[in-house]
Amino acid sequence: IAKEMDQCRYAFFEDQMLDINRRRLKLETALRRDISNNALRIAYQPLIDFTSSSIIGVEALCRWECSEFGIISPEEFIPIAEDMGMIDELGSWVMNQAMKDFADWSALLKSPAYLSINASPQQFRADSFSDYLNHARLQFNVSPEHIQIEITESVLLDHAPATTRQIRELRQAGIRIAIDDFGTGYSSLSYLKRFPISALKIDKSFVQHAANDPTDLAIIRAIMAIAIQMDVSVIAEGVETQAELDLLIREAVHCGQGFFYSEPLYKEELVEFIRGFEQH
Ligand code: C2E
Ligand code: MG
Ligand code: MG
Ligand code: MG
Repeated sequence: IAKEMDQCRYAFFEDQMLDINRRRLKLETALRRDISNNALRIAYQPLIDFTSSSIIGVEALCRWECSEFGIISPEEFIPIAEDMGMIDELGSWVMNQAMKDFADWSALLKSPAYLSINASPQQFRADSFSDYLNHARLQFNVSPEHIQIEITESVLLDHAPATTRQIRELRQAGIRIAIDDFGTGYSSLSYLKRFPISALKIDKSFVQHAANDPTDLAIIRAIMAIAIQMDVSVIAEGVETQAELDLLIREAVHCGQGFFYSEPLYKEELVEFIRGFEQH
């Protein structure tokens, strides 16, 4: 009986693997099609200055509603696009669309805000990232100080000359560079010396556990110490509650984003949000 059970379990496992592979293949095909058809969308999450309660920027977050599988998280489809060699195409589309949308919401703000765009390591390996960016910027008339590029630590650990060169070029042009999910990557901080970084984004996992976990609180304090010493700004991710906001303000974190203020919004909703927010 044990052997039969084993066989049965194995068959079940095999079926599951087949299902996973089938889903993956179908997703790949659908994603390729929808990227080509410009069927993806962008949601924008406001970045807020806690003390003045003003919008300092918005982060562009790619959205995909697949006709077969429904809403797919970027946590799932961005890696697929990377694996399929489609991240450049996806990334350029996001960049163009977000710059095109920029004028529609930024004009409503009392003080200037920036557009923050996520970029994958692979986009930097191609030599053309900064060219693409500048091209899109000029086309839609967005000045460099209104752009921030979010990269993960893995980009900075990638010693490819193209990566280093392009990051320096972007900074020289006046574009901000933020390190996304700061603290969750590799532990070597030496890259901070080599790259002119503008901001560190505290990963939401630290924000959400800081009240109960002394280690997470210690990490937030350590990030603040680095930021103050290096004169870079800090943006907290995943601020969901008043208690989290209070804790961050106590720790001298002045900017952030999260469901407490707003979830990521499509452009029309963002426009409504700005109208309401800037009144108060
Ligand atoms: P990220 O850049 O760290 O983006 C922040 C994520 O936190 C977003 O998830 C956002 O919706 C979510 N978030 C914001 N506020 C809260 C909150 O209060 N609570 C919680 N629990 N979550 C919150 P999303 O939109 O699912 O994106 C996931 C990741 O996918 C992003 O993480 C980014 O790494 C990647 N991504 C999204 N769009 C793009 C893109 O256009 N290009 C590239 N290369 N990556 C992208
Ligand atoms: Mg980001
Ligand atoms: Mg992040
Ligand atoms: Mg993240």
